[in-house]
Amino acid sequence: MTVPDGIASIDPQDAAGRSGSWVGLIPVSAFKRLAPLIGRPDTDVGVDLTFELDGNGLVRVSGGARVDATLECHRCLEEVDQEIVADLDIRLTTSEGTMEELMPALDVMVIDAGPIPIATIVEDDLIMSIPARVCPTEVDCPNAPRALMAGTKVDGDEAVRPFAGLRALKNLKREEC
Ligand SMILES: [Zn+2]
Repeated sequence: MTVPDGIASIDPQDAAGRSGSWVGLIPVSAFKRLAPLIGRPDTDVGVDLTFELDGNGLVRVSGGARVDATLECHRCLEEVDQEIVADLDIRLTTSEGTMEELMPALDVMVIDAGPIPIATIVEDDLIMSIPARVCPTEVDCPNAPRALMAGTKVDGDEAVRPFAGLRALKNLKREEC
C-alpha cells in the first residue's frame, strides 16, 4: 500500500539526468488551488511521472495525474462524480527567456532551481483538465430546468445539425450572465 506523501518533492534536473521517475499518491490538501475545486477534501491524487533530458538538454516531464472529483453541474446544480485525468508532456526550465523561446510550440513551466513539490508540477494540468460541463452530454443535461431547454430548440432534427449544440451552449451562457 502506498502512503500519500503531502510533501513529496523532486529535483527535476537531477531526476532527468538519471532518467528517474516518481510514482505515488499526494493528498489533495497539498494542492492549494486544486483542492477547493474538486469537492473531495480527503482524496488523493495519483501521480506517475518520468523525467528525462530532451534533445536540447531541457528537462522533459511526461506521464499523468488523476484524481476522483465530485463536481457540480452549472446547469442543474446536481453533483456528478467524475475522474479528472491530466496527461502531461512539459518542459521545465529556470529561465523565463527559454520559456518564451519555446512557447507555444511546447508546454513549458518556469521553476526555481533545486527540489520542487511534485504537486507544483501537476497542479496546473489537473486544474485545466476539470471539465467545464459535467453532465455527461453537456447540452442535454438530464436535470436541466425546462426554461433553459427552451433556448436550445431548433427546427428539424437536431441529430443532423452539428452546430445545434454550440448554439445551445451560447444561449446557456447568456442566461447564466
Ligand atoms: Zn446537469
